Amino acid sequence: MLDDIIIIGGGPTGLFSLYIAGLHRMKATLIEKLDRVGGQLEHLYPEKPIYDIGGFPMIRGHELVERLRQQAGQYPTRQITGQAVTGLDRTAQGWRVVTDSASYDTRCVLICGGIGDFLPRKFNEPSIDQYEKQGLHYVVNRLEDFRDKRVLVIGGGDSAADWAMALADVAQDLTMIHRRNSFQCHADSLDKLQNAGNIHLVPNAELQSIEGVGKVSAVSIRRDRSHVETWPMDEVIVAIGLVPGTAAFKSWGLAMEGHELIVSSTMATSLPGVFAAGDIVTYPGKVKLIAAGFGEAATAVEAAREVIRAGLG
Ligand SMILES: Cc1cc2nc3c(=O)[nH]c(=O)nc-3n(C[C@H](O)[C@H](O)[C@H](O)COP(=O)(O)OP(=O)(O)OC[C@H]3O[C@@H](n4cnc5c(N)ncnc54)[C@H](O)[C@@H]3O)c2cc1C
Repeated sequence: MLDDIIIIGGGPTGLFSLYIAGLHRMKATLIEKLDRVGGQLEHLYPEKPIYDIGGFPMIRGHELVERLRQQAGQYPTRQITGQAVTGLDRTAQGWRVVTDSASYDTRCVLICGGIGDFLPRKFNEPSIDQYEKQGLHYVVNRLEDFRDKRVLVIGGGDSAADWAMALADVAQDLTMIHRRNSFQCHADSLDKLQNAGNIHLVPNAELQSIEGVGKVSAVSIRRDRSHVETWPMDEVIVAIGLVPGTAAFKSWGLAMEGHELIVSSTMATSLPGVFAAGDIVTYPGKVKLIAAGFGEAATAVEAAREVIRAGLG
């Protein structure tokens, strides 16, 4: 079977691309390496509220994935999970997409591989890492697990801010620290954090150590690069970013800048008939947001149709 388009990666960008391909009645297959589609939303923040999707004042990660699945499911396209794409080979008709257990022929390819893997940035400090799952978290799956607990959120960006706001309603006490002197999250999030009443924002503060016998019971925090304070604490959430795992894409012959694929304004990569969208791409002005991935998905599928129409696949 020859597909018109194979979409690599089943995050929000891949799922929306599959919908757009179905809308155009293209023969389309999505291949996701994990056992469930949904990307970062499903695997890193299923219960976190998302506020910046057009038309949804608020929607949680898992619910958005469900809606994307339903939307894509309207058309007779194919979704394959549990297969990692490992290579791309040129064929007379387009491309052969090789996975760890099969291969699929297609005219065009759309890479929506996001950040590749979901590896949270860690402290790499054994005395801290030993508390993982014993009160130290890099992923929050259930807000209820934090009910009536003293919670520390570490990080100054949007993810940390969103977690702090979501957990403030269930935690007994919530503190958010950042090593810089200002928080980098959206201005609106900062306003909400500052006005929440039950969130303590502490800039210029770094985690120095965690204390507790087999479970977090306190944290030592270095403040203003000078003195150290010890605070009683039950749960520590680290939201200091993710380690990109996209190096494998380089071996496919794709032009990259750092960990990202370089694309043109039509989302074309350096290989003919191979497009990319979402967190995995870079171009001047790129923002890593779900909404940006949706727009790029529409552009990429349209450009792939043009390639197929022109017989250039
Ligand atoms: C904690 C947190 C909170 C966030 N909050 C927001 C928010 O409120 N609003 C917002 O707009 N954005 C938010 N983001 C960013 C948002 O999640 C990303 O921009 C979005 O997930 C990117 O979607 P994607 O489909 O491009 O990539 P991803 O979601 O990373 O999905 C990529 C998929 O490709 C798969 N894949 C990778 N390599 C292969 C391969 N070789 N073969 C097959 N499959 C492969 C992966 O397993 C994954 O499922 C947040 C991110 C985090 C970490």
